[in-house]
Amino acid sequence: VPDSADAVLEGLDPEQREVATALHGPVCVLAGAGTGKTRAITHRIAYGVRAGILQPSSVLAVTFTNRAAGEMRGRLRQLGAVGVQARTFHSAALRQLQYFWPKAIGGSMPRIVDRKVQLVADAAAACRIRLDRGELRDVTSEIEWSKVTQTVPGDYAPAAAKAGRETPRDPAEIAQIYSVYEDLKRERGVIDFEDVLLLTVAVLQDRPDVAEQVRAQYQHFVVDEYQDVSPLQQRLLELWLGDRENLCVVGDASQTIYSFTGATPDYLLDFRTRHPGATVVKLVRDYRSTPQVVHLANGLLAQARGRAADHRLELVSQRAPGPEPVFTEYTDEPAEAEGAAHRIRELIDSGVPAGEIAVLFRTNSQSETYEQALADAGVPYQLRGAERFFDRPEVRKAIAALRAAARFGGNDHLLDDAVDLPSQVRAVLSGEGWTPEPPAGSGAVRERWESLAALVNLAQDFAAVHRRAGLPDLVVELDERAGAQHAPTVQGVTLASLHAAKGLEWDVVFLVGVAEGMMPITYAKTDEQIEEERRLLYVGVTRARERLHLSWALSRSPGGRPNRRPSRFLDGLRPGSTGTRGRAAAGGTGGVERGFPAARSGPSGSGSPRRRLRSPARCRVCGRTLTDAGEMKLMRCDDCPSDMDEGLYERLRDWR
Ligand code: ATP
Ligand code: MG
Repeated sequence: VPDSADAVLEGLDPEQREVATALHGPVCVLAGAGTGKTRAITHRIAYGVRAGILQPSSVLAVTFTNRAAGEMRGRLRQLGAVGVQARTFHSAALRQLQYFWPKAIGGSMPRIVDRKVQLVADAAAACRIRLDRGELRDVTSEIEWSKVTQTVPGDYAPAAAKAGRETPRDPAEIAQIYSVYEDLKRERGVIDFEDVLLLTVAVLQDRPDVAEQVRAQYQHFVVDEYQDVSPLQQRLLELWLGDRENLCVVGDASQTIYSFTGATPDYLLDFRTRHPGATVVKLVRDYRSTPQVVHLANGLLAQARGRAADHRLELVSQRAPGPEPVFTEYTDEPAEAEGAAHRIRELIDSGVPAGEIAVLFRTNSQSETYEQALADAGVPYQLRGAERFFDRPEVRKAIAALRAAARFGGNDHLLDDAVDLPSQVRAVLSGEGWTPEPPAGSGAVRERWESLAALVNLAQDFAAVHRRAGLPDLVVELDERAGAQHAPTVQGVTLASLHAAKGLEWDVVFLVGVAEGMMPITYAKTDEQIEEERRLLYVGVTRARERLHLSWALSRSPGGRPNRRPSRFLDGLRPGSTGTRGRAAAGGTGGVERGFPAARSGPSGSGSPRRRLRSPARCRVCGRTLTDAGEMKLMRCDDCPSDMDEGLYERLRDWR
């Protein structure tokens, strides 16, 4: 913990210091990836608190995901600033809504509906509109989109046409279902996730007394990833602020990747117009990545078009040179996954911690091939943005068992033998089927094991800090973490979609599936959609600190027709390619490698098609294990919207 407020400013460059010390009035930081935006605002809050200028409880820091919020709270604690609220828009709104519901609306807050698709199905049935399963999901996503863009049923048809949405049914029918869906929710006394923001905005707008109370509580606002703020979130922010201007926003227009939900970098880029006296700070020093990675990122930006691109800032790496990015072409997707797993195995064997490696892909449906390949290579992994940790059945059961053991002191003789907390936890969890060694293979069994192993690790970490803590203390800690959705991290390779990787960093990043049809994804058609895909790739590239591997496969499956080509975004940047704008192979000095599946020993390496372990069918959007036959056919669970909106789904999941 730094010993003074000034010490908090050490380790910031002059521009970051300017951000950290400008504690009053509007501040806007426009800067590229890895320039220390998140660091600057975290130190800003810590500095203000340590200097006695900001009351911790009067600061509301808004981040994009629950995980980012958890990380910020952790950093603030390390900097000696506790008690600051760091939340997502959604979780901040949810808390306020719960608190004010009895006073502003009456009664207690309704339950949040968990099987929304069923409600939409009932609404369609009430309208006598028959939808098949695919249409049902697509209509559900249209309703979600309408709500986050604040489009009422009556305006749906023109709004959808204007936004170029591919409507699964006649827009008039969708509008009708949407309207009945809203009625049904009211009748059944439930609300949906989007309602949390909508209702908070409505309450703050209609009830000046409530708005005053919220404004009295929060005096200072900080927003990270402001380029992806939606109109509704912006409205909420304005209501929180009232006529005050103690607002600090940071963002990078080149990382706008949620525009399909109505998010827009215009709020960031027009900040000064709305706040004429604003301090605007630009950061260009990239502290995250090597010059080689930064060079590729700058190359991608140079080809970008549109408003976000007009405001691009060339990054200047502050780090020592590292290896060139590696570009690898594979014959098919399983070979690509095996190749990546093989390289990852080598990296881990050479001493790189698994937690410092990530595999990033465009759609969650790509995940399974990589899970399988990593499991085959004996590499631990964790899925980012998959089902929420504390909601997993095995985690709930395990915590219930720990709670019971804590309460009754354990009538289990195993507990008597255990000298310390971690052993007690292991003893209780062994009753839940946990073993010290991981089970063979991948799939659901392995996942359950990983969840419990994460709890054991958490107990070890907890016991290391709180030496006298017992099971009851651990249970309190777990309850707190569950409330904050602050999941323990597994020391494994991270598998994540590009949308979920936002704001994060790893020493080694494997960007896979960098092929036409995946990046850009087939359904990106308009120029704006193509530009957003390019920004997604930029987000991916800039997650790497040192090593970056980009790969693609020429066909989907082994023996398939080689009908794919590397992503157009790499034209001119990948060695050997000619750029659309005549740039020579800027991304690297070497050539594109040909990837081969890893050399294998044993019977599976005999040249015959490899027998793959059977793994459970997973929802291609959220990764949840599927049990329903209908769901399995579609490879998507009932709760998930259509493929079109995987990113939206991820965002909703973060909100939950
Ligand atoms: P993104 O746009 O991806 O969210 P960012 O601008 O928020 O990136 P940070 O995550 O804050 O960047 O910082 C990137 C990395 O650089 C982090 O590891 C951070 O600790 C480090 N860093 C930032 N500023 C400095 C600095 N002044 N000195 C040393 N390291 C720094
Ligand atoms: Mg950041």
